[in-house]
Amino acid sequence: MSVIVTCPNWCTTNHLGDDEPIEHDGPSWPTVEGVSGKSWANVGICTDRAHGVVVWLDADYGPNLTPRQAREVGLHLLEAAAWVEDHSED
Ligand SMILES: [Zn+2]
Repeated sequence: MSVIVTCPNWCTTNHLGDDEPIEHDGPSWPTVEGVSGKSWANVGICTDRAHGVVVWLDADYGPNLTPRQAREVGLHLLEAAAWVEDHSED
């Protein structure tokens, strides 16, 4: 049986081979690198079955951030929050 996937127009997920339940990914902001090593933080958009369109925050290797880097991540979060509000009905 094939699953009919109805994506919002902003979806960037390649759903080939996915089984239900289907979640969608939207745009993501540029990755912010931490001060040392390979640490990073990233903000994007995805869907959550219970909550609809949500802001996605990911980070790895415990990024330490300078004030400038911290503001950059914060700005991305603010922009992502506005994006969700603008697109929640898509
Ligand atoms: Zn999709």
